Amino acid sequence: MRKVEPSFLSGTDGIMHSVMKKKEIIILAMIALIAAIAIVLFNVFKPSQGTEGTEGVKVAIYHRNRIVQEFDSGKDAIYTIDGDYGTLDVEVKDGKWRVTNEECPNHICAEMGWIGEGEFLPITCLPNNVVVVEETPAS
Ligand SMILES: [Zn+2]
Repeated sequence: MRKVEPSFLSGTDGIMHSVMKKKEIIILAMIALIAAIAIVLFNVFKPSQGTEGTEGVKVAIYHRNRIVQEFDSGKDAIYTIDGDYGTLDVEVKDGKWRVTNEECPNHICAEMGWIGEGEFLPITCLPNNVVVVEETPAS
């Protein structure tokens, strides 16, 4: 026989009520904390998104819709990417980038030449399934 006594029930009811309130306060506090962290992170990462002159922008190199390389357009470098057809180089210089040394039949990618910050123009190498495009800053 496990009959719940009314006195016991009312007792837990009171406890449960205060526990619920405590939980709600904890949840609210956590939401506030998460929001505060999000604001801090947003402010920390915002300046690195190319608003300051010397800093470059983030550019992603995709192969088959997957990012295989990310680079900062402010850093001069050459990245070699393996495509479906062959390899190609992405050259970064003076805040601009282009495809060069490409092993592809039509060379449309290389003919696009230099792409700079804010152009958001993807360099596409269809035979290689490779796309080079500036990343849109998260809003
Ligand atoms: Zn190409």
